[in-house]
Amino acid sequence: MTHETNSDSRPTRKRIVVVGGVAGGMSAAARARRLDEHASIVVLEQSEYVSFANCGLPYHLSGEIPDREQLLLHDRASLAASLDLDVRTGSRVTAVDRAAREVTVETADGTYRLPYDALLLAPGAVAVRPPIDGLDHPSVHALRTVPDVDALRGTVDTLLAERGDGETAPAAVVVGAGFIGLEAVEALASRGLTVHLVELADHVLPPIDAELAPLLAEELTSHGVRLHLGVSAQEVTSAGSGVTVTLSDGTVVPADLVVVNVGVRPASALAKEAGLRLGASGAISVDADHRTSDPHIWAVGDAIEVTQAVTGAVAPVPLAGPANRQGRRAADSICGRRTTPQAPVLGTAIVRVFGLTAAVTGASQAALRRAGITHEVVHVHPGHHAGYFPGAEQIHLVASFAPDGTLLGAQAVGRAGVDKRIDVLATALRAGMTADDLAELELAYAPPYGSAKDAVNMLGFVAQNVLDGTMPQWQAQDLDTVLSESLVLDVRSADEYAQGHLDGALNVPHTELRERLAEVREAAQGRPVSVHCASGVRSYLATRILLSAGLDARNLSGGWLTLTAVHPDLQRASEPVPAR
Ligand code: FAD
Repeated sequence: MTHETNSDSRPTRKRIVVVGGVAGGMSAAARARRLDEHASIVVLEQSEYVSFANCGLPYHLSGEIPDREQLLLHDRASLAASLDLDVRTGSRVTAVDRAAREVTVETADGTYRLPYDALLLAPGAVAVRPPIDGLDHPSVHALRTVPDVDALRGTVDTLLAERGDGETAPAAVVVGAGFIGLEAVEALASRGLTVHLVELADHVLPPIDAELAPLLAEELTSHGVRLHLGVSAQEVTSAGSGVTVTLSDGTVVPADLVVVNVGVRPASALAKEAGLRLGASGAISVDADHRTSDPHIWAVGDAIEVTQAVTGAVAPVPLAGPANRQGRRAADSICGRRTTPQAPVLGTAIVRVFGLTAAVTGASQAALRRAGITHEVVHVHPGHHAGYFPGAEQIHLVASFAPDGTLLGAQAVGRAGVDKRIDVLATALRAGMTADDLAELELAYAPPYGSAKDAVNMLGFVAQNVLDGTMPQWQAQDLDTVLSESLVLDVRSADEYAQGHLDGALNVPHTELRERLAEVREAAQGRPVSVHCASGVRSYLATRILLSAGLDARNLSGGWLTLTAVHPDLQRASEPVPAR
């Protein structure tokens, strides 16, 4: 083993060594150079690629990013030229000697030791390997690296080229319906493959609330994707030129290729072996400046654990945004600059699923329940811009609020305008805003872009009404109790009612309610009145009329749209009902 020393004779030249040359590592190295022109900065990357766009990999698979070179944002030469970085690919760090302040680097040509003054660990995550027999079969792929996407594209190209006229489309099984799994599904389907999606949870995109997931499931099936929800893949077996995948419900799916994407775990083995403190999550424990338990070692990205906003849970949040910002902050700290300490992480994330977009920020309802945090949930389904302007698309927006009105989390699904609303809500969350603040947000409006009362304002208005008692509400999840203990009043039109309604519901269109109050009072027989319409708007008006008349009334949050998402049997038993 050789021993590399700093060739620069200046005693003050800081030696910064970075392990991992992609999101967090390269952000840190670039920032460190901008702050310190004289530092020796060495980036050690085990693969042949640095600074590549891993988030772009699914879009190269689909062909939307046709040129592979577009994924490779920089290489060793460009990083040396523009930032004077000493980037060493094919260089795997196998050990950290904290006492000597040296790392051991393994390369094809041998092993050497490299000294550091400051060491930054940005090794990312490793894919979770699920307990599926036959995962080593050559038809089984991952989608995490440039070689992964090269292999997948090659396989897809070959399958499509070899398909004879009139032959059925090649088939793919994607295991895992998380963000990257859904991107893989979209990419493979857009290439013309028949795609089976296998997910252990009972709905696609497990981080999203259950009432929004059916919208994504419908979009997937309408594009020919076959869903296998609530089951696991158990075995991959050779069959002819392809494989069969056996699922836990006994289904056997023949496939030409399999993509496995069931999540990641922090790559913290190196840190653990070096004796650095890990958290209960198994990720590297760091302070607000990303310094580890060793004052000369920092860590960022998928390998570390962070405090999650709202719930206070401490766990890794494997997303590119946090990793990039953490790299920048760690470099500030290494270079002795003022830092803006790591704020609790919101976990804001977004994914395109064919024509739909789904996005989340802050705590989901499930996370709030797990953390025992009291909250009110509000559902709205406004247009993404003024309804009278052609092309308005409905946004399905769910948000949770603390009893004092503080926003705790939000999720949205829709065809347009979802990204903008979730970004506004992520900003509101970071600022600790309340329902009152959302109601008062002044957002850009002209008919092609939004509404005078934007979707985010609507969320604030509805939450204000719920929290101050102006509009008591009931939730779709409470249906059984509601049916047994109250009168259900359906205030949609007679036509809508005829197309599907709850058993025993009294239909009084909201425009007739003032004249037919006695009828409602008689049917209620002293019980509360549980009102609903299609989306919650007309039933809000009705609820106010009933409350003013002295009845105990509450409105269904999100209306029939949300009710049928939570109880799909209702949807199947009825024709589609137009929303208002
Ligand atoms: P990485 O960027 O993964 O870099 C870690 C690097 O360290 C790797 O190149 C690895 O080879 C190297 N390394 C590990 N160990 C060693 C060692 N011992 N010695 C030398 N080198 C080592 N996030 C989003 O927010 N939005 C998205 O749309 C999105 N899409 C994604 C799509 C895909 C297909 C993938 C795989 C990820 C996506 N992510 C997305 C997640 C995002 O890319 C990661 O959260 C982010 O890259 C993490 O940055 P990092 O620096 O911690 O790790």
